[in-house]
Amino acid sequence: MGGPALKPATRKTKPYLPKVTPDLRARARKVLGRLEKAYPDWGPTLEFADPLQLLVATILAAQARDERINEVTRTVVFPKYRTAADYVAVAVSVLERDLKPTGFFRQKTRAVKGAALGIVERFAGEVPRDMEGLTSLPGVGRKTASIVLANAFGVPAIAVDRHVARVAGRLGFTRQEDPDKIEQDLRAVFQQKDWVKTTWNLILHGRRICNPTPKCPACPVIDLCPYPRKTKAPSSASRATLRAPRGRAAARR
Ligand code: SF4
Repeated sequence: MGGPALKPATRKTKPYLPKVTPDLRARARKVLGRLEKAYPDWGPTLEFADPLQLLVATILAAQARDERINEVTRTVVFPKYRTAADYVAVAVSVLERDLKPTGFFRQKTRAVKGAALGIVERFAGEVPRDMEGLTSLPGVGRKTASIVLANAFGVPAIAVDRHVARVAGRLGFTRQEDPDKIEQDLRAVFQQKDWVKTTWNLILHGRRICNPTPKCPACPVIDLCPYPRKTKAPSSASRATLRAPRGRAAARR
């Protein structure tokens, strides 16, 4: 192709700056207080005994239920692979077979092997303790890194998964869809000491009540939530219909 050479673009992207008001922070404190009472069992749902196990379990938990991952890690993976070097040394086909019950096992095998190799080659076999080091590992994004930092190393962090993104949006803590920006909004709204607690409570609320179709009548923060499409309690008439089907529908049963 001919023509003059194009100049490289010089415009820098502006850093994202969350907008937070004192009222929003006060409402966030109330929401978190209510959620932690509603979910006294908040905390990690994946089983682990050290940072490497949590990293591996979090990679495996993508697109899978935590209970399933715990079953596989407890019985197959953790007893067999004790160090990052173990995951590096094993043949791909063997690790694939071991990870098969977690689903998407080829991708997960690649991710676990890639992360383990990075840990062995660049971090002397130890899981790095900072965001930069963790996200430099193949297959490790900010969400996984935040979970490891917060729960294995006690570093304040907010992990944004699909539940956190949905619930934070409905509760008006963010208008963003990009997980990195949602994370920044939540970091600005909640106090740093509460970041880990915030993550787990939003996850549990998203799993148990604020589902894709939310169960608003059962929600402990319904009066603090600005979401305009809240679901309503079934009317007494429809409750009666549910209890005692009549007419043709009943006759068909
Ligand atoms: S009121 Fe409904 S939409 Fe709002 S947080 Fe509760 S369950 Fe979610």
